[in-house]
Amino acid sequence: MYLDDITLNFIQPCTTDSLRIRIKAILSRDISKVFPYLNTHLKNGIYNKNANTFTFNKEHKIITIYSDNVAIAKLLNETDAFETLDYLKDIINEVDSKRDEIEPSYEMIKLPSPLELYTYLPKLNCKKCGHPTCLAFATKVLNGQEKVKKCLHLYEKHNKENYEEVENMILLLGYEI
Ligand code: SF4
Repeated sequence: MYLDDITLNFIQPCTTDSLRIRIKAILSRDISKVFPYLNTHLKNGIYNKNANTFTFNKEHKIITIYSDNVAIAKLLNETDAFETLDYLKDIINEVDSKRDEIEPSYEMIKLPSPLELYTYLPKLNCKKCGHPTCLAFATKVLNGQEKVKKCLHLYEKHNKENYEEVENMILLLGYEI
């Protein structure tokens, strides 16, 4: 078997939805060479070559696979977590076993632009995040050079829908919140 185990090692409430949980788990080996095959097989995934991650949605969940670990957000409960880890192990092993039949794809689907991310930011240009404008901040966040949590205004209660959109965008790019 290509991937023997996935071991859960972190479990916490989601940052934007305390009724859901997020987890991290360790893979028993580096699986990054399978990413281009997963990219072909799972049509809705994002292969981020620069970050060496593969991210995809499964129902309501956002799954980000790193070379030797995985982060999953928006799980319903621990049962959902274990079932999703089992699913993940199965799909990785299935895709690896079919590598001779699958044409690997190194393409990334279109990434969100800084302007798209900017539309969800507070647009105050207050500089509290350490950047001169919200657009400059959005550019850094999309490049993985800045954490979105640095914008404290985004996490104010009245911005709930916006920060959920932003966090989904960040998670799908394979970055941590
Ligand atoms: S802290 Fe937020 S609102 Fe202020 S400039 Fe940075 S991104 Fe814009």
